[in-house]
Amino acid sequence: MILEHFTMKDSFGRNIDYMRISITDRCNLRCKYCMPDGVENLARSEILSLEEIEAIAICAAGLGISRIKVTGGEPLVRRDCCRLVKLLKSIPGIEKVTITTNGVLLDRYLEPLLEAGIDGINISLDTLDPCMYERITGFDRLACVMKTIEQSPGLPVRIKINAVSIDFSSMGGEGCNGAGGSWWKELVGLTGRYPVDVRFIEMMPIGYGKQFKTINHKELLEEMHREYPGLAEDHTEHGYGPAVYYRIPGALGSVGLISAIHGKFCDECNRVRLTSQGFLKTCLCYEDGVDLRAILREGLDTPEGGGHYHWPLRGCPGEEKLQARLAAAMEKAIEDKPAAHCFERPGKITESHNMIAIGG
Ligand code: SAM
Ligand code: SF4
Repeated sequence: MILEHFTMKDSFGRNIDYMRISITDRCNLRCKYCMPDGVENLARSEILSLEEIEAIAICAAGLGISRIKVTGGEPLVRRDCCRLVKLLKSIPGIEKVTITTNGVLLDRYLEPLLEAGIDGINISLDTLDPCMYERITGFDRLACVMKTIEQSPGLPVRIKINAVSIDFSSMGGEGCNGAGGSWWKELVGLTGRYPVDVRFIEMMPIGYGKQFKTINHKELLEEMHREYPGLAEDHTEHGYGPAVYYRIPGALGSVGLISAIHGKFCDECNRVRLTSQGFLKTCLCYEDGVDLRAILREGLDTPEGGGHYHWPLRGCPGEEKLQARLAAAMEKAIEDKPAAHCFERPGKITESHNMIAIGG
């Protein structure tokens, strides 16, 4: 079968082909800037079911979304995560499904994820210092995360490591070696030993992130050039995101900078985000978007109950009608996607949810 390939443009002509899907608001870590102790979990009924996520992904694929990132909370704490990856991979038009995880559960789920067809794994890891790791995440799990990184040379998929560029002076890192000025060098050092890309992400003032300071990537890049005089921009293909890549001569992996604050890349934005509650967000900074769960569950509150649709939906009566309603809502939201974020003017940020609900 030859698939017609759709493309979806927003009103600024940007091609929207990438969707991040948060599949849970639960997590097995408590990163201070994301989900510190005390954050309440949503009721399970608030979270989209596997079939609801599938219905949205089918609709998105029909509109031109071809790449999906599964995120959370921590996606691997949701028991049906690998089943979902397999389902998403089976949707015509979806070319790549990748996941972002804190890596703690990869010793159990790496094989099932590979069997499900995952195309890439991003591991979030902000420091290689065990003391600082525990200070940030609340748990002593660094060794466990490192195990997967050590296996990277033999894996069939690329591992990317994402580190938030935290100014540790705002994290209360006293007493930890990793709080010093060289925290990033240890992470960069991984690219010399393993075939992994290490990407630094400026801390964004969303949710608890507002309480911490980011490292300015312009300064970080200058420091990197001083430390590694041979560091050069790396124009080889690394994915479809906003990272700018560099490589130290002879290294096995690259170093990426995602500079949301000091290097705005909104002109090239290609993404939308689906929250675990089914809200399609069109920009991290604002609450703009559309409640797709309301469309999926329309009728559920009526005395007859059960909603208008039969689940699982694929191939059932009513699927076409529901898909048409979802598509119209998604298209309208994407048409209205804001031109750019406003992180440099914090007073204009309207997003009030935490990153744990949004998925990063
Ligand atoms: N639990 C998974 C993980 O840690 O990769 C997926 C969800 S987590 C919310 C996704 C990414 O968002 C992580 O890399 C995390 O470090 C990042 N993140 C969370 N809060 C952030 C903030 N305020 N600014 C920048 N990145 C943030
Ligand atoms: Fe959990 Fe990821 Fe948030 Fe850390 S960044 S609390 S691992 S969801």
